[in-house]
Amino acid sequence: MNRFREPRPELDGLIPYDAKDVRADVVLASNEHPLNLPGEIVAKLSQRLSEFRFNRYPDPTATELRKLLAEANGLEPENVLVGNGGDELIFDLLLAWGGPGRKLLDAPPTFSMYGIDAAVTGTEVVRVPRRDDFSVDEEAVLERVGRGDIDIVMLANPNNPTGNLTDEGFLIDLLNATDAIVLVDEAYFEFSRHTMRPHMARHPNLVLLRTFSKAFSLSGLRVGYLFGHADVVRELMKVRQPYSVNAFSQWVAATVFRERVAFEQSISEIIRGRDQLTHGLDMLHGVEVFPSEANFVLFRVEHASALWRDLLHNHSVLVRDFSRSPGLRDCLRVTVGTPEENTRFLEAVDEVLTTRRASEHFGERATATWHDG
Ligand code: PMP
Repeated sequence: MNRFREPRPELDGLIPYDAKDVRADVVLASNEHPLNLPGEIVAKLSQRLSEFRFNRYPDPTATELRKLLAEANGLEPENVLVGNGGDELIFDLLLAWGGPGRKLLDAPPTFSMYGIDAAVTGTEVVRVPRRDDFSVDEEAVLERVGRGDIDIVMLANPNNPTGNLTDEGFLIDLLNATDAIVLVDEAYFEFSRHTMRPHMARHPNLVLLRTFSKAFSLSGLRVGYLFGHADVVRELMKVRQPYSVNAFSQWVAATVFRERVAFEQSISEIIRGRDQLTHGLDMLHGVEVFPSEANFVLFRVEHASALWRDLLHNHSVLVRDFSRSPGLRDCLRVTVGTPEENTRFLEAVDEVLTTRRASEHFGERATATWHDG
């Protein structure tokens, strides 16, 4: 044979995820924690590294980590599932509740993996677009789930990339209105300090997603977890890869979770940094800032792509360009960095916009760097 058979038709038109390995001095593009693990935690891990059993398969159910997460959240280990990042758990949910002939409801603009995983699993996506201020169109969602054919709902809370929270009363109405699985994705919980955890007991269809990637400086180790009814978790156990969370990541995540008070200060600093960015951007002429409850801030500015390029090429500051995404015209997202990184970003934006205005004032033709084409 000199050819290979076509893969599943669902893959037609899908583009492989491009993590865009762009280098910059100041990286504020992926909602990571700006600091590495605290030195005392690294020292603790280093001391015990020589005893680590690299030769053994990991514990498939991450027993120790599950127990810690359950205890801290007033749950049983049966209510907890650990995954290779929150990403894997989103995929598992769609393997179990999606698939051909089944439907996911989401509220774009939102986290892109919901739609991507739906496409890969052959799940139909019912999109209920957010309103202009990025709030969920509550009536439209309730009306749509009321038809009874939605199998799973995914709402990021706070939403990525818009940063806003969804009204708790609406989420309760939604849980009352449907037996679909409702994933409330709390990946940024530590920055919003808002959770639907108190509603789990009354709503077996409520699933919460959390991660070690944001507040706990562990993006590189890929550890996420979810909370759900024991029967929901049991279904997910059927579709998950048994050894997806490697032993090293389990060990480090458990250590980090035990030592989580060590992160309180940096989390507070990130929340202050969010205010610094929000106020700083708000002061700039021609910039519209959207209030955020997460560790990033979305803003709108004319010729956003040109600003993105200028920031990268002339200031070595990398942010995320959403300006071509549906519903996010002219929007960029900046992750909160250290106070110094935030200042450098704000100064860079100010400089680009000031130069742009000066040149417009003198009637110069805007240079190519200011335009998308
Ligand atoms: N949910 C949301 C809303 C996110 O923004 C992210 C990270 N980009 C995730 C889940 C997954 O994070 P991770 O796989 O790193 O745990």
